[in-house]
Amino acid sequence: MTVTTANLGFPRIGPRRELKTATEAFWAGRIDEAALLDAARALRAGNWDRQKAAGLDVIPSNDFSFYDQVLDTSVMVGAIPAIYRAIGAPDSLDLYFAMARGRQTGAVHDEAERSGCIHDHGAGTDVPAQEMTKWFDTNYHYMVPEVTADQAFALTTSKPVDHFNEARALGHHTRPVILGPVTWLLLAKSKDQALDPLSLLPALLPVYAELLTRLAAAGADWVQIDEPALVLDLTDAARDAYRAAYAELAKVDGIKLMLATYFGALGDNLDTALSLPVAGLHIDLVRAPEQIDAVLAGARDDLVLSLGVVDGRNVWKSDLSAILDRYENVASQGWHVQIAPSCSLLHAPIDLDLETKLDPQVKDWLAFGVQKLAELHTLRLGLAEGRGAVTAELAANAGSLAQRRQSALTNNKAVRARLTQVTAHWSRRRQPFGERIRQQRAILDLPPLPTTTIGSFPQTPEVRHARAAHDRGELDGAAYQQFLEIETARAIRWQEEIGLDVLVHGEFERNDMVQYFGEQLDGFAFSRAGWVQSYGSRCVRPPIIYGDVSRPRPMTVQWWHYAQGLTDRPMKGMLTGPVTILNWSFVRDDQPREETCRQIALAIRDEVIDLEQAGARIIQIDEAALREGLPLRQADWQHYLDWAVESFRISASGVADETQIHTHMCYSEFNEIIGSIGAMDADVISIETSRSRMELLDAFVDYKYPNEIGPGVYDIHSPRVPSVPEMADLLVKAGELLSPDQLWVNPDCGLKTRKWEDVKPALVNMVEAAKAARSALA
Ligand code: GLN
Ligand code: ZN
Repeated sequence: MTVTTANLGFPRIGPRRELKTATEAFWAGRIDEAALLDAARALRAGNWDRQKAAGLDVIPSNDFSFYDQVLDTSVMVGAIPAIYRAIGAPDSLDLYFAMARGRQTGAVHDEAERSGCIHDHGAGTDVPAQEMTKWFDTNYHYMVPEVTADQAFALTTSKPVDHFNEARALGHHTRPVILGPVTWLLLAKSKDQALDPLSLLPALLPVYAELLTRLAAAGADWVQIDEPALVLDLTDAARDAYRAAYAELAKVDGIKLMLATYFGALGDNLDTALSLPVAGLHIDLVRAPEQIDAVLAGARDDLVLSLGVVDGRNVWKSDLSAILDRYENVASQGWHVQIAPSCSLLHAPIDLDLETKLDPQVKDWLAFGVQKLAELHTLRLGLAEGRGAVTAELAANAGSLAQRRQSALTNNKAVRARLTQVTAHWSRRRQPFGERIRQQRAILDLPPLPTTTIGSFPQTPEVRHARAAHDRGELDGAAYQQFLEIETARAIRWQEEIGLDVLVHGEFERNDMVQYFGEQLDGFAFSRAGWVQSYGSRCVRPPIIYGDVSRPRPMTVQWWHYAQGLTDRPMKGMLTGPVTILNWSFVRDDQPREETCRQIALAIRDEVIDLEQAGARIIQIDEAALREGLPLRQADWQHYLDWAVESFRISASGVADETQIHTHMCYSEFNEIIGSIGAMDADVISIETSRSRMELLDAFVDYKYPNEIGPGVYDIHSPRVPSVPEMADLLVKAGELLSPDQLWVNPDCGLKTRKWEDVKPALVNMVEAAKAARSALA
């Protein structure tokens, strides 16, 4: 029996986001390539040292990336689409960053299509960026590989070998991490519908074999090969591809493969995984602890088992004794065991020690990347030498956990009592939509095809500077408030001038649509340095939901009141929905997510009711992130959708029928979940449609979506100003597909990332387009 510790990947951004600073300085031309490469080398060396200092046995390399590890893989295997090839050498940073971010060579054009509404690269581009999408069910985004029917592959970069050598020169014998060929192909897209990317496997495998051969020659003995697609619903063809791929890769001499699976259970792919001729298998025992028995029952007895027992993508201390209880027998039965995080620590913040402002009680419940490494070390000692070797560590850990369980912060009696009172009628409006809309129309008295926006207006440098100055204490509360009031008043006057029908206050006071609410709710904590990479140089600092959630006082009513006082037109109340708050936060792991979501839903419901009482006739509850919470396995979708929809409805259903509830979603794939979108029963929904014209409305048409709908006619992800005829055409098309009296006119997302100089002409055109469409459809 041997027990070692292993890590699957360490965050590359640096404890103080050094990678962001360096890459953005390079993009802006402030530092040269040599300086960027130096910064990257320093980050890698720091990470290796940190992991060695934590006592880690198996330290990863090639987990570093300048932008994204999937993009690295695409470039490495030579899958570089033709449009980029003229930009530079295939292994150049120029070409790499062009694939990542696009490249502007002249006039401003539309940007490449990419999913989600946060993906805004700012400027227009002649060469578009590759498409980007979410990495499994994380908030990390990868660049989607692109392949063609005549795709040729060749080993184009030697980054895994180079980084292995670089680590060795610093005294670290590392285990290189590479993304496996089958997952890479399953993530790849082809413009050619007839091409199944998996059919390219035979052409791709020689590149992987060559890479492994070169790693072996460089002195690597193990390679971690990530195949997270093994936790997805797979076709038989995909399973066959796994068998074919690994039979081939097993032929490479002198290198052992640790096949890494994570983000869920192997489930019906378990037999496939266990049949592969690899030397080791990593399984996620945080998401799927139950799979250990089946793995032990089916695994070859010389298989090295990497047990992912420490949560790699959340922020809580592990229950170390419980882990020892569960896995002691695995080690004692003679298995070769590695103790590891469930997945790469890429998805966790780096170091809790940087947090100086967290409530010490809450801080004691947390473990970030560095602390998770320490947990691995304790677990290894506990397994290898017995609990006596780690008595003090186990006692301290048990103390923190007991404190967390008993704390009043995690057990707010009033919140819990209230939840038990929630009955079915809390999630139902009083009357059906047909009756509600009649009452709402009578009160609102809007024209057909009413115009509005999604909520935010440009967060100009002045707005951001004022906020930063206020945060630093350089601008006092009153002066900051006055500044925000002037911005808001100006935005409202301008909306009136151009003739929008339903106004917004502009959200100038909000730093972020989730943080703004989290900061005002009980049960949330905010880190100072808890950054996690979202895509490229963009990092987010998700709130930490540690306790029972409640709303001590109204959060938005004063701003709404101020704004409505400046105009006679309806001013929308503007809220973030419970599911989106949940999905963009680190969520407590001591109760089901759905329970936490219902607590948030009640807090938002209270806010909705207060807005109504203050006089708001329209209240928008954004659920930007509802779709991204979908589980990886289709069998789990309905359960999620049911509680997500119920939470939204709890937040929306406390108002009278004449109060109009809007929701907003910034994505476009509705086909699979349209039933649940319908079940949300929002009076009005605004959605993203402008980039694929009105095709996305098909789902709503097929479903016979009865409520009102605002298909985005202005693509806010691009600085391009859409013309009047273009938007009028879209509206007429939408009016023909649906019924004109269902239609609203709006951009496809909030405008905070745009500049006023693009927004102003675009919205003026949008109002004109609405007029044109009204007469065309009349
Ligand atoms: N109301 C928010 C805004 O306009 C919605 C943003 C979003 O959908 N991501 O900014
Ligand atoms: Zn949006």
